[in-house]
Amino acid sequence: MPRVASTEAVLTVDLPAIVANWKDLAARGAPGAVAGVVKADGYGLGAAEVGRALRAAGCRHFFVAQLQEGIDLRAAIGPGPMIAVLGGFRPGEDDDAGLVPVMNSLGDVAAHAGAGRASGVARRAILHVDTGMARLGLDAGELARLSADHGLLAGVDLLYVMTHLACADEASSPMNAAQAARFADACEGLPAARRCFANSSGMFLGPDFASDLSRPGCALYGINPTPDRPNPMRQVVRLDAPVLQVREIPAGIPVGYGATWAAGRPSRVATVAVGYADGYLRSLSSRAVADFRGRPVPLIGRVSMDLTTFDVTDLPEIAAGDRLTLIGGAGCSPDEVAARAGTIGYEVLTSLGARYVRDYL
Ligand code: PLP
Repeated sequence: MPRVASTEAVLTVDLPAIVANWKDLAARGAPGAVAGVVKADGYGLGAAEVGRALRAAGCRHFFVAQLQEGIDLRAAIGPGPMIAVLGGFRPGEDDDAGLVPVMNSLGDVAAHAGAGRASGVARRAILHVDTGMARLGLDAGELARLSADHGLLAGVDLLYVMTHLACADEASSPMNAAQAARFADACEGLPAARRCFANSSGMFLGPDFASDLSRPGCALYGINPTPDRPNPMRQVVRLDAPVLQVREIPAGIPVGYGATWAAGRPSRVATVAVGYADGYLRSLSSRAVADFRGRPVPLIGRVSMDLTTFDVTDLPEIAAGDRLTLIGGAGCSPDEVAARAGTIGYEVLTSLGARYVRDYL
């Protein structure tokens, strides 16, 4: 562990666990390849560190959301693996990083095809068809035009055709089969190309969702891809924060902003050095538990910007300098924290701020 001041919180990221999760998914995705989705700074855990660990483990395909994320990832992992940019970019914007744009419209196709024809070197790219998200990707009209005129792709080296599932985390949703059918139809009408289909949850939906390349993100980071079943993935992240003070208060004394919680009995209050500015969401106010050596510690009052208060009346051994596990302990996995905050584990991870000492295992 790096040297840590007594007032600093430590975010521990278990890179071997991420690699183990990727290998589990790779076994599940076989014979297709399995990429690593490391957008949003590796779901908040560090794209460079995660990318290097996955690359060392044999991952040959990465996805990011934005051009700059791709450029930074290339600098971190070096040449070789495919790095695709989901949001796309204009021809030439990736300089020497050798990134692969996702073409999300016919306009994108025209731009990359035109650049390829002009230079005489076909541009590697991925074609995104929309099968049910109505977000990015060729819509039905654009798909029909491209299917009727494959010449529009002259100048493009089409690596994959991809689509994205809207409801993969709801295994019984009819959207899943509908999107699989639309994707198969779309690919039939396009020039032969490899297919890139499932996200994390999609990889658990069955053989109709297998493809040449799957794109899991959340499952790598320990988020449950099968919310209606126990989490098959390893936990990856742990946030330990120091108790700055423990104070004794009489019954009736309120704690924190808004005086929303008042002691119902003489109480001990532990004030911890993490707040909503660190991504410990304010919506956790009075709802979350931390973990102290396997025992639950209830959060009381409102989460402030840099501080959060916990009721340690029943844990008399807790003193200033001790550390509570706020995320990644018993009762406070990222998914459990998310449920208490009324959000999803993705948001818990990507909200993690930059103020922590980071310890990469
Ligand atoms: N593919 C696309 C287009 C995405 O937007 C995402 C994430 O949002 C993923 C793959 C990875 O999804 P997940 O984290 O659910 O595995």
